[in-house]
Amino acid sequence: MDWRTKLLNPAPQARRDYRSLATPVYRGSTVLFDKQAAVSDDWQQAENGYTYGLYGTPTTLELAARISAMESARYTFIVPGGQAAIALVYMAYCKAGSHALVPFTAYGPNREMAEGLLRGFGVEVEPYDAMAGAEIEKLIRPETTLIWCESPGSVTMEVQDVPAIVKAAHAHGVAVALDNTYAAGVLFDAFTHQVDVSVQALTKYIGGHSDLLLGSVSVRDDKAYEAMGPVYRQLGLAVSPDDCSLALRGLQTLPVRLAQLETSTLQVARWLADQPQIETVLHPAMPSCPGHEFWQRDFTGSASVFSFIFKEAITAAQTEQFLESLTLFGIGMSWGGINSLAVVYPDIDRPDKDYGGRLVRLNIGLESPDDLIDDLQRAIAGISPA
Ligand SMILES: *Cc1c(COP(=O)(O)O)cnc(C)c1O
Repeated sequence: MDWRTKLLNPAPQARRDYRSLATPVYRGSTVLFDKQAAVSDDWQQAENGYTYGLYGTPTTLELAARISAMESARYTFIVPGGQAAIALVYMAYCKAGSHALVPFTAYGPNREMAEGLLRGFGVEVEPYDAMAGAEIEKLIRPETTLIWCESPGSVTMEVQDVPAIVKAAHAHGVAVALDNTYAAGVLFDAFTHQVDVSVQALTKYIGGHSDLLLGSVSVRDDKAYEAMGPVYRQLGLAVSPDDCSLALRGLQTLPVRLAQLETSTLQVARWLADQPQIETVLHPAMPSCPGHEFWQRDFTGSASVFSFIFKEAITAAQTEQFLESLTLFGIGMSWGGINSLAVVYPDIDRPDKDYGGRLVRLNIGLESPDDLIDDLQRAIAGISPA
């Protein structure tokens, strides 16, 4: 054989029985079959065997299996990011003429998709008050197919009465999808609370180091699995095995990171609540947070992201000055990583609320909380009238 042929058909192969403690990174698009009769293009690889890299290599399916076990799900689909996970859920549950409900407090791009792409497809997505609870029943119509929950909500942190919403939805045969990113799939047990689909931006706590983008869509039962799978296949939501490998590593330290982040975040949030320049702290474990009673009832802990609002005496410009004088907090989006971050939402859109550019969202990282407090104290003193 010519050397070029030999390169592609190597005779000696390294032994394949290396038993690494870590899940190997399996790359691959093509999967080889033993015979023509075995060739298939089946997305149900966990049951029926590997067919094509698009539906995941063993690295992806290992991550899917671990998230699924963590959430006690029927199955988990791994997708390119949290926003892709949201898109997959909409596509699986809505078609032209469908009506869906999404809280005002949902992740911004979820609402953007509702008002953009989905409207163009003839799907009506109606925003609702995150605190609606059982009252949501009044908004359910014959053509309603999906209700989103996101608890706590993005930026303004409202904790929802998810069980009451699920009860109303299921009484009308409507599916409930929960964006469970804050809870990392563990602080709120979606499926014990009868949610149909639990979505996570794995980008946040599972990745945990701000160096990857991935999402998960976990389904409760066969019905949700069958609704999701074909759409997942048609959308071609391929992910990189390298990112899955990083997420698998992240999972191993999730318990210690979450425990430390909870303690540090509470220390910082409680200190902020005592400062005279601050009007309110929006942290689910504090009574000042809307829906705190639902957090107490339904959650097993709190995470690293929360917001606070300066008193009216502090202007939007001073809030910006505060942000820029912080030295340990980076100014940046996203959260769930090991670094502390701060960001102002000047145009946050909530009905009947005007935060006047005074709302700051923090992500607490693994720095010493005492140092973080010193940094905040210095930055607050810098904008306070003497
Ligand atoms: C970040 C985030 C997403 C989107 O995740 P990406 O991986 O960045 O696409 C979705 N939902 C919530 C609640 C988020 O915080």
